[in-house]
Amino acid sequence: MGTICKLLSGVMMATSLAAATAQQPAHHWAIVIHGGAGVIERASMSPETEAAYRASLNEAAQAGAKVLDQGGTSLDAIEAVIKIFEDDPLFNAGRGAVFTAEGKNELDAAIMDGSNLKAGAVAGVTRTHHPISLARAVMEKSPHVMLIGAGADTFAAQAGLEQVDPSYFFTERRWQSLVKQLKKDGLPIPARPAGAPAPVPVAEIEPPNAHKFGTVGVVALDRAGNIAAGTSTGGTQGKRWGRVGDSPIIGAGTYASNQSCAVSATGTGEYFIRLTVAREVCALVEYKGLTLQQAADQVIHKQLEALHGDGGLIAIAPDGQLAWSFNTPGMYRARQAEGGKLQISIYNDEP
Ligand code: ASP
Repeated sequence: MGTICKLLSGVMMATSLAAATAQQPAHHWAIVIHGGAGVIERASMSPETEAAYRASLNEAAQAGAKVLDQGGTSLDAIEAVIKIFEDDPLFNAGRGAVFTAEGKNELDAAIMDGSNLKAGAVAGVTRTHHPISLARAVMEKSPHVMLIGAGADTFAAQAGLEQVDPSYFFTERRWQSLVKQLKKDGLPIPARPAGAPAPVPVAEIEPPNAHKFGTVGVVALDRAGNIAAGTSTGGTQGKRWGRVGDSPIIGAGTYASNQSCAVSATGTGEYFIRLTVAREVCALVEYKGLTLQQAADQVIHKQLEALHGDGGLIAIAPDGQLAWSFNTPGMYRARQAEGGKLQISIYNDEP
């Protein structure tokens, strides 16, 4: 073989080796999503409502799977899925969020990158179309981790994120649900928000009490082996005094570290903050060697229940372990691992 031939075949070998390495993903992607936990029971759910939730979960999960399958990052998948949920009035995030006692939609969101422990969170935003994108901008474009209220919206506008009139988040179903709760609690009913459409009769699309939850969250593992977590919510219905729940609190409702796991939680946020639920699950994995499912169950069924708290969580580990756990009658949820089937579940008697 002449020198040029040898050189050429060497180059070709190197090229095909590089191509093979590039083609062979080091990790299989996986994703788990939730649309909130709560009193979600078969008996009180109409077939149409159930079908609507399953369709929404399917659409959102498929969008996330597509991002990951095309080699996108876990952060990209999380943002893509949560944006869909934030635009879907079925869920308590973005448009369709619950109202405060003053008749406002105050939105919270957080995102965390398990590869470098970077995180971004926002609380009480009222004008940013996609709070999850704002959380990501806080992480990537500011030196901070958490921004709140009008300042957070100002930062969003400066970062070029779409701003909307607060009435964009209004939905009749959530409004009537608030009015019902305030009447029951003997609290004053605020004026209908400026810019809200004229009242229309609504069919009760969710069973009573279920409206309390509906927060959305995603955890994902990408082909590079990085995990991340994101959560978005309107918080709890009728919240007052600038109340902030666990969702945007890093370590409580949202957490991710490649050393252990990524978690997004949903439930009565006060308990999740006190137990630092998301970090606790990851600590049990990291320091006690529990499997992801064991750690999730221990926190939900032992620690949370000991405080009489309610809710659930989804989790993922860099080695591909997936888990969910909740102590409510239902949690809207779905999961898929590369090469496997998409599983969508609602009630606690489903896998
Ligand atoms: N955890 C949320 C909060 O307390 C509510 C929810 O999950 O629906 O703000």
